[in-house]
Amino acid sequence: MNETHDMNLESWVESANVPEADFPIQNLPFGIFRRKGETKGRIGVAIGDQVLDVYCCISEKYIDGLSDELVQACQSSTLNDLMMLESTRWSLLRKKVSGLLRRDNTIDRKIIAKKSLVSMSEAVMDMPAAIGDYTDFYASIFHATNVGGMFRPENPLLPNYKYVPIGYHGRSSSIVTSGTSIRRPMGQTVSSDSAPPIFGPTKLLDYELEVGFFVGGGNALGATIAIEKAEDHIFGLCLVNDWSARDIQKWEYQPLGPFLAKNFATTISPWVLSLEALEPFRGPAFKRASTDPSPLPYLVSEKDRQTGGIEIVLEVYLRSKKMRTQNMEGVRLSRGNFRDMYWTISQMLTHHASNGCNLRPGDLLASGTVSGKEKDSRGCLLELTRRGAEPLQLPSGESRKFLADGDEVIIRGFCEKKGFRRIGFGECRGVVSGSLQ
Ligand code: CA
Repeated sequence: MNETHDMNLESWVESANVPEADFPIQNLPFGIFRRKGETKGRIGVAIGDQVLDVYCCISEKYIDGLSDELVQACQSSTLNDLMMLESTRWSLLRKKVSGLLRRDNTIDRKIIAKKSLVSMSEAVMDMPAAIGDYTDFYASIFHATNVGGMFRPENPLLPNYKYVPIGYHGRSSSIVTSGTSIRRPMGQTVSSDSAPPIFGPTKLLDYELEVGFFVGGGNALGATIAIEKAEDHIFGLCLVNDWSARDIQKWEYQPLGPFLAKNFATTISPWVLSLEALEPFRGPAFKRASTDPSPLPYLVSEKDRQTGGIEIVLEVYLRSKKMRTQNMEGVRLSRGNFRDMYWTISQMLTHHASNGCNLRPGDLLASGTVSGKEKDSRGCLLELTRRGAEPLQLPSGESRKFLADGDEVIIRGFCEKKGFRRIGFGECRGVVSGSLQ
């Protein structure tokens, strides 16, 4: 850890110093924003309720001492060029931004604020990166066991689970940023095992609470990434909602896995938190049961065992249309923690590249639904309502087995630890706006 993590550090952007702020000076996540009326995105850093225009700070010489390639990467309208640089470059930029924003900096704040700060309420957030490829894992053993038990009661956890970080190739074209409304997809479903399928809107629309991580420097086709080096290839983390149509999924998933039940939309939060910002919240990887096998050697490193876990509190809120018209807050459906994942992000990344598959800067890897042992830590409605058998009661008097049109799903994530400043991910939200037809 370094001076950017000091919990006593404050910013001259006062909104960043509020204890419950997601974006204090210790966080400094990257994103792509536009001022209203602008057509091209710019690289921004979140600070309090403001966005710092990074390239503006460089061109105005508020920030200097960066290499030409770093300056060039900061002019881009995606984070990909920054992601492809070495992790030491990301760290240097973070240090410079921290130095600029700290309270004891003697620069003329009024001029800097006027030129390079944009209120979040005035900014439009774009996708942080041009996502070339998207892979979704299945890294929570609690989720895998709960869901497996519903689809295959006699055999919930397949024998490969404790050896292979299971995943599938998702679709990047339908990844959208927080706030984009989601259409209820059409698809084939069957009402009973003996009846033929029908085509129509999904009746069992669900969310999945996940954490995503962006690949930084990638690997060439045919090359691999050693587990000890995996974190150098991870630019940062965001929140993910992997919207899922359970009835379509049930009919289509065998033998090749998820397809149209998943690829109609995936929502991500706009701010990407660096592993450096998350450093204070690292902890041991998930402790396997003594009867579980050890991972194969290419998925094991002592450092990953000791610090591969990340303590991120993850919450899901639901706000129905009725709740919005009555000005009610969203109701919390679950609260889980990312440290409960069976596989670490390094294991997922290393496994993905272990066959020589090339990962590229801007690729998104998602963890799979984050569920814990307790009932209130289950990260999707399929688990929370036991596939509709135990409906949830909302404070508006409504009940839910799955999502209804007009429902808004809001995912929040934050990290808290004694001796360190709380940091947050902001929000990942989306409203179900109605059927395609
Ligand atoms: Ca998923």
